[in-house]
Amino acid sequence: MEKKKYVTEDGEHKSDVIVSWIITHGCQERCAYCISPEKCKEITDYETHKAIQDQMIATGLTKNRYIGGEPLLIPHLGKLIKESKEAGLNNRLSTNGILLTKEKLIELRDYLDSIALPFESCNDKLNQNIRGTKNHREIVTDRIKMIKELSDLGVLVNTCVHRENIHELEELAYLLDELGIDHWKLRKFNSSSGRGAVPNKNRFEISEEEFFDVVNHLQSLGLGYRIDGRLPSKLNTRLMVSPQGELYRMIEGEEEEVHYGKVLTKKLNIKEIYQRDGCN
Ligand code: SF4
Repeated sequence: MEKKKYVTEDGEHKSDVIVSWIITHGCQERCAYCISPEKCKEITDYETHKAIQDQMIATGLTKNRYIGGEPLLIPHLGKLIKESKEAGLNNRLSTNGILLTKEKLIELRDYLDSIALPFESCNDKLNQNIRGTKNHREIVTDRIKMIKELSDLGVLVNTCVHRENIHELEELAYLLDELGIDHWKLRKFNSSSGRGAVPNKNRFEISEEEFFDVVNHLQSLGLGYRIDGRLPSKLNTRLMVSPQGELYRMIEGEEEEVHYGKVLTKKLNIKEIYQRDGCN
């Protein structure tokens, strides 16, 4: 299969139809700012996942974002990613990196366009306090080096900016430059939902001013990759599919999300909804 060099996205996604597919809420980590709810009954079989994916592709999906939770916990994820690529889609995997072994990367690399990883800070004690797991820095650093060595996939890093890592980000910025990533997406801590974020509101909350001060500072360092700062409201226009196969959008600050129903049962037309509701 012919591969094209990854092109960093500008966030406008003209003519694309994108879905973030939360294929599971399960995860090996327990990040204290996590916006996922507790895991409850989820779709687990390949046939139903394939039918959901086929319905989305048949109705105009062009970019598939496999997210979680931790999507690599789904045993048949590789098959779905392969089938999506064979249908001509642009695929991104967002993973915490723990299960991204060399063998897994070799299995997936021809069918992905980019991989996104979380990176908390270079401070191991802080990382462990926040994520509940050890070796986050070593794991993510190792995975970025491995992706660069074994593939030409785009490498994105996602960082939730909060009270405890806001003063640690410059060191991380220089490390990401050394590692040669393509895009660093910083998002302001969001306390409106999630098993970690809601109870930890007071621990992590920062103001928009503090957030954009740090983003502007990091951008002013003139490093060799794109840096973007996003508010939680950016999610308002993102189409998501839940682990139960329901299409929805999260609306920040409102209790009600926008629910469109189950992709399969309602035979939803993804492109029609995406364009009608101004998604991106
Ligand atoms: S934020 Fe942390 S706990 Fe939540 S899904 Fe991501 S890696 Fe897992």
